[in-house]
Amino acid sequence: AKTKGGNRFQFYTAEMNQRSLERLDLENGLRRAIDQGELVVYYQPQVNLRNGAIIGAEALVRWQDPEKGLVMPGSFIALAEETGLIVPLGEWVLRTACSQNKAWQDAGLPKIPVAVNLSARQFAAQDVVELAARILHDTGLAPNYLELELTESAVMADAEAFIRATEKLKGLSIALSIDDFGTGFSSLSYLKRFAIDRLKIDQTFVRDITHDPDSASIALAIISLAHSLKLLAIAEGVETEAQLNFLRARNCDEMQGYFFSPALPADEFEAMLRQGRKL
Ligand code: C2E
Ligand code: CA
Ligand code: CA
Ligand code: CA
Repeated sequence: AKTKGGNRFQFYTAEMNQRSLERLDLENGLRRAIDQGELVVYYQPQVNLRNGAIIGAEALVRWQDPEKGLVMPGSFIALAEETGLIVPLGEWVLRTACSQNKAWQDAGLPKIPVAVNLSARQFAAQDVVELAARILHDTGLAPNYLELELTESAVMADAEAFIRATEKLKGLSIALSIDDFGTGFSSLSYLKRFAIDRLKIDQTFVRDITHDPDSASIALAIISLAHSLKLLAIAEGVETEAQLNFLRARNCDEMQGYFFSPALPADEFEAMLRQGRKL
């Protein structure tokens, strides 16, 4: 048994070394991706549930790796947060999304806000209000066409700092959404003090909305909470007509999800916006 345990220890060590090598490899790759322009921003349309029109776009980063192809953020955002690379990455996404949105407006497309994700680490590491103001100035995008998304858990990590930031953002007319709402246990007393515009109903509730009564109840509670605080409710991850109908019947304001469209490369999103595609 002793030898077995010893072997097992060696096995784990080898595996851990292998994993830290892979991590280091990914970290170096990501550093190169940021420096050499391998990151790309995709845009997912957000739709008004009453008139079916595209009313916004969420910017979602992808990594076009020369060897691996298109890498999804699920496999590098966490590492970017741990290593601090999220700061230059997030700044690049914010700048790219603002300058793209300005280019669409200059080309005469319908004017819509673009929503950019901010990570908790980024929020803590830099003055995001100052950063957003600087990028809006540089790109010439009007502040009311930028929205920032922060996850509920990121917000609750330092709610007082978040309250101060939301007030400054409101002063600049930059909109703010709380992402993945329902998963981070917001204190309702805080919610009242946040100068926010939208609650995004997490996709885990939306997924089960038509067959799990608990998910349906949570989604309904979020919609009525949003409305009683004079906020908009947007449902994420809407994949089926049944989910759409349920949300529409319950007065949810907006949706995004594969049922309408996945996140698209900039040129494809532009074509959709130009056509004026509706739900
Ligand atoms: P998120 O902000 O909650 O974004 C929603 C995710 O759900 C996106 O995944 C989107 O493509 C996906 N999605 C949209 N509609 C549907 C649907 O109908 N069904 C399903 N199953 N999924 C849907 P994506 O693009 O892989 O991004 C994953 C996460 O990575 C994002 O979750 C966000 O937390 C993070 N992320 C993406 N881009 C950035 C960024 O620029 N900065 C930061 N800090 N995080 C980012
Ligand atoms: Ca988001
Ligand atoms: Ca989300
Ligand atoms: Ca999420």
